Amino acid sequence: MLSEMPNNARARSDVYNFIARGFRPPSASLFAGRDDDAPLQRVAKALAVLEAPELQQDAEQLSQFSGRNAASGQPAALQELAVEYNRLFVGPAPPLAYPYESVYQHPEGLVMGAPALQVLERYAEEGLSLSRESRELPDHVAVELEFMAYLCERELQAHEAGEAECAAQYIEKEHRFLADHLLKWVPAFCDKIICSSDSVFYIFLARMAKDFLRWDMENLCRQMQARSQIGSRRETEASGPALARAGRPSIRGEKEYYWQAEIRQDNCTLCGICEQECRPGALQVCRDSAGVSLYFESLFCDGCRLCVKFCPEKTLHIRALPVGSENGPPPQRQALLRSALLSCPQCGTAHISAASTRQILKRLSDLPNAARLTPWVSLCLPCKRALAGKGPMSHTSG
Ligand code: SF4
Ligand code: SF4
Repeated sequence: MLSEMPNNARARSDVYNFIARGFRPPSASLFAGRDDDAPLQRVAKALAVLEAPELQQDAEQLSQFSGRNAASGQPAALQELAVEYNRLFVGPAPPLAYPYESVYQHPEGLVMGAPALQVLERYAEEGLSLSRESRELPDHVAVELEFMAYLCERELQAHEAGEAECAAQYIEKEHRFLADHLLKWVPAFCDKIICSSDSVFYIFLARMAKDFLRWDMENLCRQMQARSQIGSRRETEASGPALARAGRPSIRGEKEYYWQAEIRQDNCTLCGICEQECRPGALQVCRDSAGVSLYFESLFCDGCRLCVKFCPEKTLHIRALPVGSENGPPPQRQALLRSALLSCPQCGTAHISAASTRQILKRLSDLPNAARLTPWVSLCLPCKRALAGKGPMSHTSG
């Protein structure tokens, strides 16, 4: 455990820096490059180094996001992120998720309360102050996360210099800052993002931040306990209960929630693209003799919203509902849409869902030659091929 500490500190510093950058206004540099030093690649590698099973899913989604969004540095994608960033964190309408600790800790939700002054003191203890260029308050989420990254870097320097006592002091400082500040409010802040945003990037970032902070608290407790076991038994006894208490600070406003899917039934074509995009298998298109159905399993859903992003009809919506509210318990496997199979008028084979047929006919109705094309929609493929040489299509192509 002790020999892994430098790698652990380096990787944690990278993850804290990445999450902090994610909560800054979007910039092309966050998505730039595919080399090992590019931010997305670097944080995926850092998560892998940490070997935390609970973070591996975040690492996989990150590389998936990175692969799909190599173009995110492009102006249009950045513009989209900037709009969502303002909607979530800035305004002009009241932000959906205020990014300041004071709002969550103050009884009336005011900014620049006691937590802002407390974190300023912590920064000062390390000889740090907000730079002149910084336009953020001291308890902004990105500033607090950058401070954690700084503490990890100092811990790493101490390990590399062979100063075990100094490294241990930094581990304790990290633990204290996490317990006294970040873990007291960031999970509730992340819940607000997860429940309010349709942006794959911000939902992913919020989930990753929440998972990582919780994991890091356990990680720091383990490191402190391992060290105290090497030291005196007295120290071990003193640190045990205190660590256990600090391991799970109370978090104001944090909720447990489950995912619910909704579609506008008239628009879904049962194309199955959402099923292909859904890695945990929460969405399934099933076909049997009665028809075609789209099912959703809430327990499997992890809220990534990739299905929403890639649904060509923009008809699917995933939202988070608090457990235990008037919404009741999470539903079991739920049929979002059932559609009968229609038969080919030529051979009688059931082959296409009524939902798909309805959408195709709707699209054809805008075309000038709709009347000639419409009869072909309900034919199965073999019958279309058989008739292709003598039917109306031969005239249109000729
Ligand atoms: S919800 Fe969208 S992606 Fe899924 S089957 Fe329907 S149209 Fe296709
Ligand atoms: S949000 Fe959509 S794609 Fe993601 S796990 Fe849930 S159902 Fe699957």
